[in-house]
Amino acid sequence: MGISMDEMTTKLYDVEAIRADFPILSREVHGKPLVYLDSAASAQKPRQVMDALMLAYTDTYSNVHRGLHFLSEASTDAYEAVRGSVASLIGAASGDEIVFTSGATMALNLISRCWAEPLLQPNDEILISIAEHHANIVPWQMVAEKTGATVRAFDMGPDGAFVMANLTDMITPKTRIIAIPHVSNVLGTVFPVAEISKVAKQAGALMVVDGCQGVVHMPVDVTALGCDFYVFSAHKLYGPNGVGVLWGRADILAEMPPYMGGGDMIDRVTIEHSTYAEPPVRFEAGTPPIAEVIALGAAVDYVTNIGMEAIRAHEQDILSYAHQRLSSVEGLQLIGTAPGKSGVVSFTMDCAHPHDISTIIDNNGVAIRAGHHCAQPLMDRLDLPSTARASVGVYTTRAEFDMLVESLEKVRRIFG
Ligand code: PMP
Repeated sequence: MGISMDEMTTKLYDVEAIRADFPILSREVHGKPLVYLDSAASAQKPRQVMDALMLAYTDTYSNVHRGLHFLSEASTDAYEAVRGSVASLIGAASGDEIVFTSGATMALNLISRCWAEPLLQPNDEILISIAEHHANIVPWQMVAEKTGATVRAFDMGPDGAFVMANLTDMITPKTRIIAIPHVSNVLGTVFPVAEISKVAKQAGALMVVDGCQGVVHMPVDVTALGCDFYVFSAHKLYGPNGVGVLWGRADILAEMPPYMGGGDMIDRVTIEHSTYAEPPVRFEAGTPPIAEVIALGAAVDYVTNIGMEAIRAHEQDILSYAHQRLSSVEGLQLIGTAPGKSGVVSFTMDCAHPHDISTIIDNNGVAIRAGHHCAQPLMDRLDLPSTARASVGVYTTRAEFDMLVESLEKVRRIFG
């Protein structure tokens, strides 16, 4: 009997073996097994990542770049090697296009300050979606205030789907930047980045992708996507806190001035004047988070070993199961049901506020997020103060969504 590729991937995916890599998943919360459905906010860490972090301190620790002794060279080699791993993960042409930042937020601020600010003229337009995380809104507003440019937002479809006409209708000869999420952190909508990049090119606009919720759930190839920048945070990719990635096309990075001044990012300094290093180091002033970058390399190896395609197939299975189960809960409304969505399930219940839902189910050991998810313009558009949100990761199981549904039934009994 024939077996499809998808079935094969799902069958080969050993979620219990993966769960065994994450020590925290075997703990109890309020006397119940932890059901962690908040990976979109931050993912848990496998032993492999924590071991790499420990090893970076116990085996090779020293400052990078400036030393000529053994440990500094070992540390520098380990740190620099991660650029290549990240480049392979996201299909970048070279590790030289990978800038380490403190996170996606810093990466987006860096792009807006170093690339957009020198370029934007009064009345130029920055086009974003209504579904942005604040990290992909506020930096653009700040640069717009300085330059006289305007931030405009295109709407989503009724089910939270991306509608190309909504975007193209907003493009004008003044559109200089299109900034979108790869995947919405509230709706789960996957934006067709490659198609949008083509539209951006035709409009003469540069294309910035907030990949926080994209790179964690699916294979990414920035070259095929045709965008100019792609950013993400390590902590959502099973890596450590305090590190993020800014990928930018080499020719664009080469034109950008530094973000911060200090050690490492220079070529030559005199009291009167400084010249700057080439990218990516130009954008990494000061001592970087050395051990964390090395541990990010371990996180990249971790997901690569599982396989991003296998992760996508597993999570899609869990997500469609989650939708099916949650739809059966009386008075529950799913927020964001675009075809092919990824990563998150947002919902409201007619009997209880999302904060109450989250607090009650926490007693069952179930961790979800409730709030505006740093997407207030989207909440305003949906006319909701907040939603509850469950999110999936490499370790999520169908049984965890059974537990969520059971806990939501308890919410209904208490408030209904
Ligand atoms: N964009 C999206 C879509 C996100 O989900 C997040 C994190 N919630 C961010 C940006 C910001 O990431 P960080 O706080 O790690 O910089």
